[in-house]
Parts: sequence; C-alpha cells; structure tokens
Amino acid sequence: MAPRSASPYNKVARGILSDMTALTDTFGRQITYLRLSVTDRCDLRCAYCMSEHMTFLPKRDVLSLEELETLSGAFIDRGVRKIRITGGEPLVRRDIMSLMERLGGRLGDGGLDELTLTTNATQLVRFAGDLKSFGVRRINVSLDTLDDEKFERLTRRRALSRVLAGIDAAQAAGLKVKINAVALKGVNQDELPSMIEWAHGRGMDMTLIEVMPLGEIEEDRVDQYLPLTEVRDALEAQWTLTPLDMRTGGPARYVRVEETDGTLGLITPLTNNFCDGCNRMRVTCTGRIYMCLGHTDSVDLRAALRGPQPMKALNDALDRAMLKKPERHNFDISTRNATPAVPRHMSMTGG
Ligand code: SAM
Ligand code: SF4
Repeated sequence: MAPRSASPYNKVARGILSDMTALTDTFGRQITYLRLSVTDRCDLRCAYCMSEHMTFLPKRDVLSLEELETLSGAFIDRGVRKIRITGGEPLVRRDIMSLMERLGGRLGDGGLDELTLTTNATQLVRFAGDLKSFGVRRINVSLDTLDDEKFERLTRRRALSRVLAGIDAAQAAGLKVKINAVALKGVNQDELPSMIEWAHGRGMDMTLIEVMPLGEIEEDRVDQYLPLTEVRDALEAQWTLTPLDMRTGGPARYVRVEETDGTLGLITPLTNNFCDGCNRMRVTCTGRIYMCLGHTDSVDLRAALRGPQPMKALNDALDRAMLKKPERHNFDISTRNATPAVPRHMSMTGG
C-alpha cells in the first residue's frame, strides 16, 4: 500500500475508504481503537499485574517517541479514531508529554476523535495540566483500595497519598476521571461499595474488572479471582442497579447505581465473553501488535518501522495483523498452579 501524505480519516467517516484500507478483520469488525503501551516499566508493583522483581526490557528494544508517533500515525491513517496511551505506567516514560502533545495535534481534522490514557495517578500532580492542554479530556485511573496499608501491600509501594493528590490535580485541571478497580477476593471485596460511594460522590464513574490470567506472578490467581457475578449480587442486596443501554465498543457493561447516583461499569472477561463487538488492537512498547489480549499471536511492527520502507512495511504488517485477529478469547481461572493463559504480563501488553 502506498504511503499517504494526508489523513484519509474523513473518507473513513464518510464510508468511502475502501475495505482494503480501513482496518477490518476477517469477522467484519472495524478496528478504530488503539491501545498503545509506551513503556513496560512502572513505579508500582501491583501483585496481580507484576512479580516483585520484574526484569524490564533493555531501552534499545523499546520504540523511541518518534517511532511511537509514526506508528500511531499509520493507525490513524487506517481509520483508528481513538488512542489510549498505557503501559506499564505511561507517565514514568521520559518526555512522554512530547508524544502526548504531538498526538494531541492529530485530534479533530487530523483524524483522531479521542486521545486518552490509563494511569496509576502517581505522576498526575505533575502532568494533569499538560494533559488537558494537549487535548486529553478523560482519563482512567487504576485504584484498587483507599486503605493506606492495603494499598502498600497490594502495590508493594507506599504511594496512596500521591495517587489521591494526582486524582485531585486531574479533576482540578478539568479532566474527567474514571476509576478502574480490579476486584480481588478477600482483598478489596468488602471495600468495593465504599469505593463506589467515594467515586460517585466525587463525580467519577467507576468500573470493576475481573482479574485475568496474564503472566507469571508470585500468587495463585485462583486465590485472587472474584467473579463479578458475585460482586453484583452483593451490591444488589443493598442498592438498586439499573442496567444502562450504554456501549462504548469496549468490554464494559454499565449499570446506574440509583442510591449513589453514578455509573458503574463491569468488565467480565471470565464470566461473560464480550468479543463480538471488539474494535481494538494493542501494541506493546516494542512495537508488537497483539490482536487479542487472550492470545499469543502477534505481528512485529518494529522491524517494519526500522526497515528501509517503513510506511509500506507498516501497512503490510497491519494487513497481516487483520488476517490474524481471532474471533474471541477464552480465559479460565479454575485450576490451581495452572500456567497463565498467556505468558506476557498486562504491563507488557498494556491495559
Ligand atoms: N499502570 C497503569 C495503570 O495501572 O493504570 C496502566 C497499565 S495497567 C497494566 C492497566 C490496567 O490493567 C490497570 O487497571 C490494572 O489494574 C489492570 N491489570 C493489570 N494486570 C491485570 C490482570 N492480571 N487482570 C486484570 N487487570 C489487570
Ligand atoms: Fe504498574 Fe499499572 Fe501494573 Fe499496577 S497495574 S503494576 S500500576 S502497570
């Protein structure tokens, strides 16, 4: 495919971009959403995400900020309209704001409808204002507990006050914040209602996520896994949950909690498969594109980027990736001492 100088986004919007050009998989799903991991490093060590002593990638394997920008541009030119920057912790990547600024420049006529990020909020005091000025409107903050000691046990770092200050800074800067919490058996299980009250009381939506079997960690996931069907039953015993007909093309199903007057999302990769409307792809910080969170199959975009004809090679690689996107994933956390469904950690693929 020939390199393009101008974004064909408007052609995608008008439906006249050919099927060959728009990123469409073999099941007819159009890919409009990219989750881009900019680093595998993190300043926390959440027990369900990483092992305590992680070996991080050597710098030469990680895409430069320029390469990340080129790659994002190739996706935008193929019809991607939303980019979520993630990691590892995206805000610990040096000079990450320069990438945010450049991608922010593609919002609007540049082809992008939304630029956003998922963060643990430890660095938000420093960056919230810049993010807002570069065009970010909404962010997801991952926070699993409001208890200082539990936070330290869970993340192996003492940082809750920094996280809460980060959330304050984001709201003060005018960013809309959504709180994501992984539901963990016996860890934050009893605290989830008060966290929901806290989030809704501050005007923040909240989403609960089931833990997924990604990467080797110290603990057995059977001990962590808390089905959201169970959480929902417990919440319904105390609150009225009204199902909302709200779909974002993503895996979450939403309910309104009448008593707290807020929206609660439920992401259930284990108890309920949500792949039918999948519109997303994930790219690691080494430029490997994973067509599905629950599969190991990938296509190397870094070799394309660093080769002689990067744009042509990139587009060819994206076409190959489309042919490989599987119909669905199938996670299972029922057997003790099982090997993870996929060996890579979430911090590698990006959440
Ligand atoms: N560091 C950032 C953060 O925590 O928001 C971004 C990356 S983190 C990998 C993205 C999301 O993945 C977080 O919400 C985290 O809770 C979630 N996550 C990590 N490992 C997970 C697992 N095994 N199962 C379910 N969610 C996981
Ligand atoms: Fe870091 Fe996010 Fe993984 Fe926690 S969930 S260890 S904050 S990458």
